[in-house]
Amino acid sequence: MKRPKITDVRATTIALPLEAPLRHSNGAHWGRFVRTIVEVDTDIGVTGLGEMGGGGESAEAAFRALKSYLVGHDPFELEAMRFKITNPTASLYNNRTQLHAALEFACIDIVGKVLNIPAYDLLGGKLRDTIPFASYLFFRLPNQENGQGEVRTADQLVEHALALKKQHGFQAHKLKGGVFPPDYELEAFHALAHAVGSDPVRYDPNGALSVEDAIRFGRGIENLKNDYFEDPTWGLNGMRRVRANVKIPLATNTVVINFEQLAANILNPAVDVILLDTTFWGGIRPCIKAAGVCETFQLGISVHSSGELGVQLASMLHMGAVIPNLVFTADAHYHHLMDDIILGGPMKYQDGAIQVPTGPGLGVELDRDKLGQYADYYKSTGGYPYDRDPARPGWFSLVPNTRWADPADSRPVKY
Ligand SMILES: [Mg+2]
Repeated sequence: MKRPKITDVRATTIALPLEAPLRHSNGAHWGRFVRTIVEVDTDIGVTGLGEMGGGGESAEAAFRALKSYLVGHDPFELEAMRFKITNPTASLYNNRTQLHAALEFACIDIVGKVLNIPAYDLLGGKLRDTIPFASYLFFRLPNQENGQGEVRTADQLVEHALALKKQHGFQAHKLKGGVFPPDYELEAFHALAHAVGSDPVRYDPNGALSVEDAIRFGRGIENLKNDYFEDPTWGLNGMRRVRANVKIPLATNTVVINFEQLAANILNPAVDVILLDTTFWGGIRPCIKAAGVCETFQLGISVHSSGELGVQLASMLHMGAVIPNLVFTADAHYHHLMDDIILGGPMKYQDGAIQVPTGPGLGVELDRDKLGQYADYYKSTGGYPYDRDPARPGWFSLVPNTRWADPADSRPVKY
């Protein structure tokens, strides 16, 4: 077998419409996801696919800048690439962890295609054929085109959750909070939990609550069937104080997102469940390594979603397939998207789960027409500030936050 060498790194920014803008504690996804699709070419004609988000902005220029580091590199040499791109002392000026993740997906895709095996077979072999997902519910602004999709009241939240459960078969439900005053969200979360019956629930305000509000909220939901209480407050010490005062496991995708933080959390526990994100951790393999540490210390594992189209989703599915200690449903924003850029159209949920792709590499291919269509859409709509709210011009969040959105405000918003 001739070992491949990387010849080019290409990146295309696309924007893909969401059903409606998704609100979170720091702002919103303004009615579309901006993603950078990466293609890594080799001298044997095999191309690998990667994907990265970027808070509403293009990452094309950052990938272009890495081309000189990668031309001539053998994509089988994944550990060498880690140090070429993300040596922890060499990359202090320009943290490249998330860029590395997209390149790692692409190299794993190349290796799988060269060997004609799915990525999961490179990564230890799959333990499951499908990955179950939670419904991942957001408070949403109405779509500016048709006025549809608003989720602001408890009734709207329940209606939305039940519709998603019916459509996709979700059997666990996550509410992204941190938007409205905590007491308002507490009531909405209770309404959700009661509406979904025996399905487990999870609440995640992205660390926006003060420690005291988080303890009060946590005690107010202790009687529900919680998977966990996700990032109720900010910081390992804040989480530790909440954990000491609330009888629900704490989870995070904000304060344990690298190995040093994982070590700190093991030496002085603040969090019980680690949400692994193939982008935040720098790739699929670092997530699998972290899952191994968690297995040793018996911490729980779940899968975080930083927003995904089919390529990123494939990375999450392959990771989920090989991790033994994945006992919670995964998160994905995927069902809020109107389309995808992979051949065959968006992957389908069945009974709340998505099939792990079985083709060579990541098992997904680009639909060139769709890629072109949504690259044009990005060119006409541009980026947006993910950490601002189109409904509240001039607003920005504090930590802990005290400047909540007004639940009575139902004015239409242009974004
Ligand atoms: Mg989270």
